Amino acid sequence: MKKLLLASIVTFSLMITAQKKYVLVIHGGAGTILKSSMTAEKESAYQTKLTEALKAGYAEIQKGNTSIDAVAASIMIMEDSPLFNAGKGAVFTADGKNELDASIMYGKDKSAGAIAGVHTIKNPIKTAIAVMQKSEHVMLSGVGAEQFAKEQNLEIVEPSYFWTKERWDGLQKLKQKALNTTKKVSQNTLPESYEIDQKFGTVGAVALDKSGNITAGTSTGGMTNKKYGRIGDAPIIGAGTYANSQVGISATGWGEYFIRATAARTIAAKMEYQNKDMKTATQETIDEIEKMGGDGGLIALDKDGNIAMPFNTAGMYRGAITDQGEIFIEIYK
Ligand code: ASP
Repeated sequence: MKKLLLASIVTFSLMITAQKKYVLVIHGGAGTILKSSMTAEKESAYQTKLTEALKAGYAEIQKGNTSIDAVAASIMIMEDSPLFNAGKGAVFTADGKNELDASIMYGKDKSAGAIAGVHTIKNPIKTAIAVMQKSEHVMLSGVGAEQFAKEQNLEIVEPSYFWTKERWDGLQKLKQKALNTTKKVSQNTLPESYEIDQKFGTVGAVALDKSGNITAGTSTGGMTNKKYGRIGDAPIIGAGTYANSQVGISATGWGEYFIRATAARTIAAKMEYQNKDMKTATQETIDEIEKMGGDGGLIALDKDGNIAMPFNTAGMYRGAITDQGEIFIEIYK
C-alpha cells in the first residue's frame, strides 16, 4: 500500500514537472485567415515576426523585468511590422486615415492605461503604458492623447508613416462594395463594407513575470472603413483587455461584440466568482459572442502558466513561449 502510494506520488510529480509553464502568449489578430489564400512566403513572414515578438518579450522576462516590459517588447515588434493591423500596417478609416487604439492592464494592482483614436503616435502601446504609470487617468483620446505622448517624449511620426499599399487597396475595395450596399444598419448586421476584409489583424500579448505578476495588452488600427471616430474593444479595459492576479486576457475580432459581451472581464469574473477554469471561462465567452452573432478570438494566460486561445474564425495568428524558451506558433484552426 505504502509502495503504491509512493509510486503514485512519483508519477504525479513527474506529471507536474512535465507540464509546460508558459510565460508569454501573443496574437496577431483573428479573422478569415485561410491556408488556401496564403502564400508560403507570407506564412513564413508571419511566423518569423511572431517568433521575433515572442523572443523580445521572453528576453524581458528572463532579465527579471516586469510583465509590463514583456508585453511592451512583444507588441512593439508587431506594431512596427506592416503585417499587422496595429501601428505601421493599421487599416484605414472611411476618410482615409489610420486611427489607432491600444490598452494595457497590470494584474498586480489592476492599474490600467489606454489611448484611442490617435494618428501620430508610433507605438500606441508605449503611450498606453505611460497613461497607466504617469497620469491620473485610464483612457485618453485623440489630440489630447497625442499631446500627452509628446510631453512624455514618446515617438511622434507623420500620419503618412502608417500608410501601406495593401491597407489602402483594402479600403478602396470596401468603399466600392459599400457604394452598392442597401443593407439596413444595425448592431447585429456586419456592415457590408466590412465583409470582404475580415483579416482583422489586431495584436495582443499577455505575460507572466518571475514575480508571478500578469500583464495584458492590445493594440489595433480597428476595422477598415470605420466611421465617425468609431472605437472598438481593444482600448476598452474589460472588453479587449483585462488582467488581475489570476489571469490576463487580450482579445481580437469584431470589436462591437466584445464590448457588448464585456468579454475580457467576463472571463476573469467566471474564474473569480464561479471558480471556472480558464479553458472553460474563455470558451464560454467566445461561444456567447458567437451566439450573439459576432466573431473573433482571444488569448489568456493564468498565474500558473496555462494558456487558452479560443477563436471562432477561420484562423488566428497566435504563439506562446514557455519558461524554458520553447516556442509554439499556429495560424489556422
Ligand atoms: N477588435 C478590433 C476592433 O474591433 C479589431 C480586431 O481585433 O481585428 O477594433
